[in-house]
Parts: sequence; C-alpha cells; structure tokens
Amino acid sequence: MNARVALQLSGVERHYTQGEGVLSILKGADFSLHGGQTVALVAPSGTGKSTLLHLAGLLERPDAGEVFINGQSCGALGDEQRTAIRRNDIGFVYQFHHLLPEFTAIENIMMPQLIAGLNKAEARERAAALLDYMRIGHRAEHRPSELSGGEQQRVAIARAVANAPLVLLADEPTGNLDPETAGYVFDALEALVRQSGLAAMIATHNYDLAARMDRRVTIEDGKVVEL
Ligand code: ADP
Ligand code: MG
Repeated sequence: MNARVALQLSGVERHYTQGEGVLSILKGADFSLHGGQTVALVAPSGTGKSTLLHLAGLLERPDAGEVFINGQSCGALGDEQRTAIRRNDIGFVYQFHHLLPEFTAIENIMMPQLIAGLNKAEARERAAALLDYMRIGHRAEHRPSELSGGEQQRVAIARAVANAPLVLLADEPTGNLDPETAGYVFDALEALVRQSGLAAMIATHNYDLAARMDRRVTIEDGKVVEL
C-alpha cells in the first residue's frame, strides 16, 4: 500500500452482543486518510463514530478486517507494540477533556512527552510552544478546573499532538462548547493540522466545521461512505 497513507481501515467489522442478539455496528468499513488531510466524520448518534475512532486509535480491536497505521498492519501486534504506536503515532481528543485535574495545563502537555522519554526541559519547551500556538500561553500554570471549556479543549488538543503523532483522532471535540467557542477551538485545531502535516479525523455534528475540512464521510449500513 501507499506509504503516505497515514490511516487505513480495510474491511473492518465490529459487532456487539446484546442479550441474545448481535448488534452489527461496522460491517466491512473501508477508509483511508493521507498525511496532511482532514476529514469530518458526520453521522447520527449511535451509528458507530466512536467505535470507528476507537478502532482507528488502537483502543479496541476489530472483529474482522485490518487497521493500518502508516502502512503497518496492527491486527497481529501485541498489546505492547500497539501501546507504542498509540503513544508515538496517534493523538486522541475526547468530547470531554480528560485532563489530569491535579496537574497544570503545561504539565498535562508535558506528561506524554515524559512517558515517551524526553527530558523535562525539552518537554516543557515544546509544551509551552504548543500552548502559545493554541493562544493560551498565559494559562500554562492553571489547573483544568480553572480553565474555561474552550481552554480545556485547546489544552487537550495540545496534549494529543505533544508527541508529534501522524494521526489525530477527535471524538466530537467541540460538542460540549457553544458555537463561537467551538469555532475558536476549531481554528486552532485546523492551524495545527495544516502546520504539522498530520492526518486528522474529527467526528462532529457541526456542519460549519465539517465544511471546512478536506473531506466529509459518514457511516451508512456499517460502511464508511464519502459525502
Ligand atoms: P456514535 O459515537 O456514533 O454515537 P457509538 O460508536 O458510540 O456511536 O455506538 C454505536 C452503537 O454501538 C450504539 O448503538 C451503542 O449503543 C453500541 N455500543 C457501543 N459500544 C458498545 C459496547 N461496548 N457494548 C455494546 N454496545 C455498544
Ligand atoms: Mg460517539
């Protein structure tokens, strides 16, 4: 396959057992995303957006099919290797920030870098640059509870890209924000993607935001369909 494809799903299936029955959410989903490309995942609630993002982010394993990150097939890898790929190549942003409450904004962004083996000075320098880039440099020493919702999400985005991943996956990252704040957070996200060349897949219900991305896809009958 093309090495420039940052993320590829091939024939991905996911089925949940529900009581006696089986709920088939993904039924042979195919999808690929190049570095530097942004795609909006726009689909009604319950159609499998989070499921798809979790599979793409190696947080879950598909029941059938394959997930490729940067050309590497991830299905046969053990948990340790998957964790390493997740740490180095994938950034994840949730609807709610999931920042560590007892640490400051800058410490939250330093954390994944320290885990990846950078020293404190390097991690702090990059975290500070990311905070500046997200235009919240003045909030570096504040804890999450002292930040607004939009600021919390910008810190969460900065944390997700702290290790310069190839793929950024965001699950309704502005779903909890008012439209103006959502636009502001999205501006920062978009600028970051353009500047870094990473591939971004963003689940959103916001059509204005979706319209600004390179592509739009939905989930129909368990498959990914281009809009
Ligand atoms: P979306 O993010 O588009 O709202 P999800 O991917 O969260 O959709 O869920 C898709 C469907 O799968 C929903 O009907 C949900 O209830 C079901 N589902 C998700 N996770 C599980 C699970 N672990 N066990 C059983 N059903 C699940
Ligand atoms: Mg969801």
